[in-house]
Amino acid sequence: MTATAPITQDVMTIPRKLPEGPINLVGLTRPQLRDTLIAHGTPEKQAKMRVGQIWQWIYQWGVRDFAEMTNLSKAYRAQLAEVFEIAIPEVVSKQVSTDGTRKYLVRIAGGHEVEVVYIPEEGRGTLCVSSQVGCTLTCSFCHTGTQKLVRNLTAAEIVGQIMMARDDLEEWPVPGAPKDETRLLSNIVLMGMGEPLYNFENVRDAMKIAMDGEGISLSRRRITLSTSGVVPEIARTAEEIGCLLAVSFHATTDDVRDKLVPINKRWNIETLLDALREYPRLTNSERITFEYVMLNGVNDSDDDARRLVKLIEGIPAKVNLIPFNEWPGSPYTRSSNNRIRAFADIIYKAGYASPIRTPRGEDILAACGQLKSATERARKSRKQIEAEAGL
Ligand code: SAH
Ligand code: SF4
Repeated sequence: MTATAPITQDVMTIPRKLPEGPINLVGLTRPQLRDTLIAHGTPEKQAKMRVGQIWQWIYQWGVRDFAEMTNLSKAYRAQLAEVFEIAIPEVVSKQVSTDGTRKYLVRIAGGHEVEVVYIPEEGRGTLCVSSQVGCTLTCSFCHTGTQKLVRNLTAAEIVGQIMMARDDLEEWPVPGAPKDETRLLSNIVLMGMGEPLYNFENVRDAMKIAMDGEGISLSRRRITLSTSGVVPEIARTAEEIGCLLAVSFHATTDDVRDKLVPINKRWNIETLLDALREYPRLTNSERITFEYVMLNGVNDSDDDARRLVKLIEGIPAKVNLIPFNEWPGSPYTRSSNNRIRAFADIIYKAGYASPIRTPRGEDILAACGQLKSATERARKSRKQIEAEAGL
């Protein structure tokens, strides 16, 4: 902490505009926001109150302009505006599917672009948030995995996607209006581009902000983080985020999983399951979602279904079957509806919920695994994809 202002001093001593440009307040945790305000002249004894006020303006009311923060003095607002900004990713384009799904392309610092998907459902709505530009992992069935350029998103860029969607849905509350409990954006899934557990701190901080009761206020049970199986970060996810967990399981033998989800070579099925067994205990016995992409002739046999049931025995679980979504050059095809239903049936009869995920927004390439920002043209060749898939 760099407290430049003496504790006894009440007046602001904010320096002139910083040479490196304004500091973005979005994405800072409460303690970070406090330190930042103090470092730029907010008296320490006022800091707690100022954090509370500014926090509410940003995350509860969706305000982006310090001038609108009417419970702060005019002078203080002006001083804040000299040093700070409230900035979120810029929407480059928005596509709306025939089923109502919205896909946004947003631009972040450095000219990179990521995709964000909003899926409206009966009485609720889910935002699929990205955690990285591209992904360092190379799951052979995933479009994002073919994008070479990768950078972690900052906490501001992650929580900024939620704020952007609330802007577009016009869902910031109006002061004084009665509270409407049905939310258009009621759930978050970290299932966009990237491996969230390879960007742990930023994802954690962004989700803490989204869960904060004096802001966006989403319960931890309405946030689901999907990982391909970064084992060392799973217990930390339980302890430091506490959200629901989904795991990209996708295969029932190490041989096949090595090909589909190459991180399996580092942490195999057994190691992954050991980590998952602990998760419900650490988060108060919640079910883990096992995601399972249905690839024709690769992982979709009755034997696979029976093996899967055996593997997950003893873990509170549901199995989410995802019909494979094709993308340009993808090396697999989708299992037939009958095959998927037969697979689901075996799992269901063993006592696990086995919903089949309905693809949403296929016409705008917004379905699971189809995301890839168009500007990142560097794409692996079909040959490379097939070689990695072991075809
Ligand atoms: N990187 C994380 C989260 C993003 S992917 C992870 O892998 O879990 C969200 C889900 O979509 C994962 O289960 C992923 O395996 C799945 N998926 C990827 N490509 C897909 C495709 N082409 N069709 C269907 N599901 C896919
Ligand atoms: Fe990355 Fe997930 Fe795609 Fe695998 S499935 S390449 S981990 S985004």
